Amino acid sequence: MFRKIEPTKTGTAGQYAKYSDYKGVLMKDFNGNCGYCNDNHGYTGGWRGMQIDHFAPRTPFDELEHDYDNLVYSCFYCNNAKSNDWVTAVAENSISDDGNSGYIHPREKEYAELFERSTKGSIIPKNELGFYIYTNLNLGLLRHEIIHTMEKIFEVVKKINKALDENNISVEISNLLKENRDKLLNKKFALEVQFREIINAR
Ligand SMILES: [Zn+2]
Repeated sequence: MFRKIEPTKTGTAGQYAKYSDYKGVLMKDFNGNCGYCNDNHGYTGGWRGMQIDHFAPRTPFDELEHDYDNLVYSCFYCNNAKSNDWVTAVAENSISDDGNSGYIHPREKEYAELFERSTKGSIIPKNELGFYIYTNLNLGLLRHEIIHTMEKIFEVVKKINKALDENNISVEISNLLKENRDKLLNKKFALEVQFREIINAR
């Protein structure tokens, strides 16, 4: 599964005159995750570090600059990589005639169907269109794999801690859970070190 929570629409069109004012709404819509790579903003400098992508780019579609539907909560990496890329001459057509290049709006559930995750947590495109987006947005960056795995570990550790809080588990099970939790936390720490190295290498 590429993403666990589907984006929603919590704002209304025309709510703000300036696109930048939609940032809080977009953060809620996308659950704090980049619409394109699904990295949580907790790993990308918080919501201040996040950017607003114009799905149909401002150049040449400047009439959509402040259009809520055209805005995507995005990390720097995806927004910067996507830039003004658009495969047709019209804003409404986001995909080429053969269906093999272009973009699907990340708010659509079809966007998530373009990708899956490897057992290591990296993003894998499932078809030609997914491959186009994967390539153009650099979705193969190691940071996406690391962030996804750290989040997954965080969730499992939370579940283990909850299970340990229950009074009716045996000492044997309790020890087993603790042992595995500590292994996971060690793994997470190693990933955090690796992640910091990537950031510092930028
Ligand atoms: Zn991203």
